[in-house]
Amino acid sequence: MNIIIFGPNGSGKGTQGELIKQKFGSLAHIESGAIFREHIGGGTELGKKAKSYIDKGDLVPDDITIPMVLETLKTKGKNGWLLDGFPRNMAQAEKLWEALQKDGIKLDYVVEIKLPRQIAKDRIMGRRICKTNNNHPNNVNIDAIKPSGDKCRVCGGDLSTRSDDQDEAAISKRHDIYYDEKNGTLAAAGYFHKLADEGKTKYIELDGAGTIDSIREKLLSQLK
Ligand code: AMP
Repeated sequence: MNIIIFGPNGSGKGTQGELIKQKFGSLAHIESGAIFREHIGGGTELGKKAKSYIDKGDLVPDDITIPMVLETLKTKGKNGWLLDGFPRNMAQAEKLWEALQKDGIKLDYVVEIKLPRQIAKDRIMGRRICKTNNNHPNNVNIDAIKPSGDKCRVCGGDLSTRSDDQDEAAISKRHDIYYDEKNGTLAAAGYFHKLADEGKTKYIELDGAGTIDSIREKLLSQLK
């Protein structure tokens, strides 16, 4: 099973992504932002190059990002993948589709979580990252996943914020990229929507303003 998930930063994409992984067991969660953060943490050359872009909320250039993600799909995604954070523009969408066609890899589903920009921003500012497991959902601006005091609501671990989550200019830049229907991430999503219209993949649209449970139900009823 190979799935792409789209959603603006703050849409609950991480939470729904976890659900998809649980449903299909062995899917590799391939998250471009997390791969970059690993490189930055490990002090690699790629990490050093990527950091200045990430700190400003800019996209890391395609000549670094595209080969890195395509390589990761090959090495870690042999038993299926959930691709998250990529593609983020038209060039990435086209290169990904080209690579999948070339290798005869089926794209089973494309999931898009829709959310108005202002709600997405409030959610980002409220996001807290569990130091034990960064997939544990915690957000001080969403009632259903409020942390327990200042600790992770899932495991009680310590929480932190991502520096780019608290920077309004950076959030705005990231959303400019996401909501750009001409060349940005919504253009990439549209590219796959069109492929779904041609019967080449399946496209699932979800309303990200709903509760986690209602989104989950709709998502699970459409994934076979
Ligand atoms: P994320 O964790 O998805 O919010 O990603 C954090 C940052 O990593 C982004 O703001 C970008 O600077 C960079 N990044 C992640 N994915 C991509 C991508 N597909 N293309 C370019 N830059 C990316």
